[in-house]
Amino acid sequence: MPLDSSPVWFITGCSTGLGRALATHVLQRGWRAAVTARDPRTVADLVDAHGDRAIALPLDVTDPDQVSAAVARAEEAFGRIDVLVNNAGYGYLAAVEEGEDTEVRALFEANVFGAVAVTKAVLPGMRARRSGHIVAISSLGGLAAFGATGYYHATKFALEGLSESLAAEVAPLGIGVTIVEPGAFRTNWSGPSMKQSAIRIDDYAETAGRRREATLATYGSQPGDPARAAEAVVAALEADAPPLRLLLGTAALQIARGKLDALQRNFTDWEHLSLSTEVAASPA
Ligand code: NAP
Repeated sequence: MPLDSSPVWFITGCSTGLGRALATHVLQRGWRAAVTARDPRTVADLVDAHGDRAIALPLDVTDPDQVSAAVARAEEAFGRIDVLVNNAGYGYLAAVEEGEDTEVRALFEANVFGAVAVTKAVLPGMRARRSGHIVAISSLGGLAAFGATGYYHATKFALEGLSESLAAEVAPLGIGVTIVEPGAFRTNWSGPSMKQSAIRIDDYAETAGRRREATLATYGSQPGDPARAAEAVVAALEADAPPLRLLLGTAALQIARGKLDALQRNFTDWEHLSLSTEVAASPA
């Protein structure tokens, strides 16, 4: 959506990282924002610096009561929500066979169902005004998958599928959707926020096990700058026709292009079988 002169943003997961960087950028631009966090004290400094253009709201996206209360409070304070950013989320390291059911379901609750709940709470207002934009902070991992992060990829692939469908459904209503796919950014994602399975199976030591260690080792030296990610997201939304997908980072772009090439090769190599499955024409 070409942003109007003073758009109202609603951002989840603003205590640290990309959410905080986005909230900071939006407020520095002079716009208004509902800056939400599980513990709103973590965003008090940010909100206090911007007077009545910012409100801090408690929001655990897995808590339906908090979701409806936060959206209602933001709409009451600012009259509307123009841009929703579903940013809250975290990672989980485990080979698929090592995944713990309770942890995996909790991951889906936060990364997928949390985003769904906030989106459903915000959409009625956007539909009524026939305008708005919904941003899903997915991941490069929503396009390409690797060992040890299968469940995280599953949540981000789910978010991508939902967002593509949503985009088709709400475009005629004047509402846009953008899926943001960051590579490695210097946030808490691969550090304090990361969860991992306590179960370790020796047979996966050289695959998922190695990648667990490699992922954790990126903490503190990830190439991506959250402040620059925030600028890029806003620039994309300011375009006349914002993209459905926005990759962030050099490696993300390279890896996504590699995935595209691999898909092309796979489709071409097996085209003969793909084209062999229609009901045979009946003899004339
Ligand atoms: P981060 O610094 O760990 O921030 C994650 C944020 O999500 C925190 O504010 C955290 O709040 C919040 N959160 C987690 N579960 C929540 C819940 N149930 N309800 C509300 N908030 C919740 O990491 P980040 O990199 O900025 O992550 C932001 C998003 O970017 C995530 O969706 C992540 O998957 C995605 N992403 C990150 C990278 C990367 O390399 N950094 C790459 C691709 C995608 P608390 O402080 O309360 O825990």
